[in-house]
Amino acid sequence: MHWPDTIRQLGGDLLSLFSPPACGACGTALVRGEQKLCANCLMKMPKTNFHKIRGNLVEKCFWGRIPIEVATSYFYFLKSSDFQHLLHALKYKGRSDIGIYMGKRFGNELITQPEFKHFDRIIPVPLHADKLKKRGYNQSEMIAKGMSKAMNIQVDTKTLVRTTFTETQTKKSRIERWENVKSVFAANYETNLNGQHVLIVDDVLTTGATIEGCAQALLDKNPNVKISVATLAFAHTM
Ligand SMILES: [Zn+2]
Repeated sequence: MHWPDTIRQLGGDLLSLFSPPACGACGTALVRGEQKLCANCLMKMPKTNFHKIRGNLVEKCFWGRIPIEVATSYFYFLKSSDFQHLLHALKYKGRSDIGIYMGKRFGNELITQPEFKHFDRIIPVPLHADKLKKRGYNQSEMIAKGMSKAMNIQVDTKTLVRTTFTETQTKKSRIERWENVKSVFAANYETNLNGQHVLIVDDVLTTGATIEGCAQALLDKNPNVKISVATLAFAHTM
């Protein structure tokens, strides 16, 4: 080790004395060699391993709705679990680094499957501009960034846009809400996705309506685009 490295290491150690980095899921202090998540949380992550299973629950979620090539989620969304805390930190506590980190891990697992190797671009579910301004980043884009590093596939944040702000939708009925979320996305004409295979990325999959809206918007302008889906968490309730 060179002197400057030693000093930098010492500086880092001193700094961590004052603000020890904590596990993004359970909050315990990380030890050297651990990044973002502690070894225990990594071990007990409730992974779905859906990327290895065709006809899995995520793929089934879209059957009869939109044509999807392959789909998967990294882990199961369990209420009050450490991984719910992790998603909360990613979305509301400014922890964009957790998105990149988890995306990288997820991407590294996906590329072990031939079906998840050959995408032309990764498109994160867009946030509305107002929300983006307030939050400072799009959590889905952070996940996509991490996946992009691991999978060596470009992230495209230009083609798909969110057109309407959906803040007031709590007052609407379930069906109206569904229709609402489906019609808020639009694809621009500048990018021709025909003949390409696109991976749509989001943080959590619940009803699938958001992803369906994104996929529909892409299909409307590019009838020959192939679409696949990857989300960090799977909270399918239907
Ligand atoms: Zn932990």
